Amino acid sequence: MDKQDRIESGGYMFAQPTTFSDAFPTIKELSVKVEVRKGGPMDGAPRVLHFSIQNPPGEYVSCTNSRCTEGGWCIGDVLREMVAKSETSKTTGGICTGRERMNRASFRECLTHFMAEITVSYT
Ligand SMILES: [Zn+2]
Repeated sequence: MDKQDRIESGGYMFAQPTTFSDAFPTIKELSVKVEVRKGGPMDGAPRVLHFSIQNPPGEYVSCTNSRCTEGGWCIGDVLREMVAKSETSKTTGGICTGRERMNRASFRECLTHFMAEITVSYT
């Protein structure tokens, strides 16, 4: 299994494979809407993803750019920061960490932009 497969499977990349509830034991309810804009922040046709405690996100939200390598946005970091600060709602965004393959030898930064509305309640 290569790195991309692990990202696609939605697992949390801690020392041990774990589940969302193991990774975030204090989160009781979760509502996440992520808008993924493949063309950058001004893309008018985002792909909208929804996550909940029954259907939690993985460590990374996958990039929708098929030419992107090892791409995605680390929502795990955002959730860990929210838990650390006991935040209950947050609107935040970021860009893909991947690179887009132009040809065999050259890459450019992937343009995919992620914007998330996150609501959390705690146990
Ligand atoms: Zn990407």
